Amino acid sequence: MARVPELPEVETTRRHLAVAVEGETLVWAEVGRDRTARRNHRPADVTERLPGRRVERVGRVGKFIVAELDGDLRWVIHLGMSGRIRLVGESEPLDPHTNFRTRTAGGVEVRLVDPRTFGFVAVWTPEEWAGSTLAGIGRDALDDLPSRNELAAALAGRTAPVKALLLDQRLVAGLGNIYADEVLARACIHPLRGGGSLTPAEIGALHDAVGPVLAEGIQHGGTSLDDLAYLLPDGRAGTYLDRLWVYGRAGEPCPRCGTAIERVVVAQRSSHFCPSCQRR
Ligand SMILES: [Zn+2]
Repeated sequence: MARVPELPEVETTRRHLAVAVEGETLVWAEVGRDRTARRNHRPADVTERLPGRRVERVGRVGKFIVAELDGDLRWVIHLGMSGRIRLVGESEPLDPHTNFRTRTAGGVEVRLVDPRTFGFVAVWTPEEWAGSTLAGIGRDALDDLPSRNELAAALAGRTAPVKALLLDQRLVAGLGNIYADEVLARACIHPLRGGGSLTPAEIGALHDAVGPVLAEGIQHGGTSLDDLAYLLPDGRAGTYLDRLWVYGRAGEPCPRCGTAIERVVVAQRSSHFCPSCQRR
């Protein structure tokens, strides 16, 4: 059951990375597979631009880690479907599928382990950033959630299922399949409801569910599934899996009412919901 790491997993990774590299100068970089550097014009853009740069700040845009480097460059890391960041000393043996690594002057290595190679690392000039898909990403679900009124305006007239709208990174950035299901469960909204059909009270409940669900996910280091594709940079697993209400729990009892959780496909993705608490 592969899945894209979502905001809580990326934010957890970002926090570890910030502690390790903010204020540090990168001295070396290597791309193990050219595909990992595909978002630059040539892989050498990554390996030539990183060395000598100081990491000013490690930020996040939706599901992307975006570090600001001196010289007005942005270092972007996307975990893709199966990627994870490892933070280790330079003498640590390499994991299989280590497709990128860079090293600080202090000897800390940042490694991207990514068996399926959907992840990427890029180092972009301001012009390259502006021309990338990341420039069109919407407001952050954690740091910059639209107000209830703004959310209502964005959903008005939309006939698409609310679940699909929550996955649209131009509307709100950071939610993916797991956390969108969890937010809808807590807000008691069926995933197939049309975005424009939600009442003001439902929009309020939806708005109010986003922050707590994401905060709880981050508090538990995100969600590592059984495949352990996503792990924290120190090698531990995120433990939010045990606290999910509906995602991946078809047939299990709803924690609110005990009704068996059901599964439905929305926008080619599995959605999980309680048919009693979340009515159409
Ligand atoms: Zn229920």
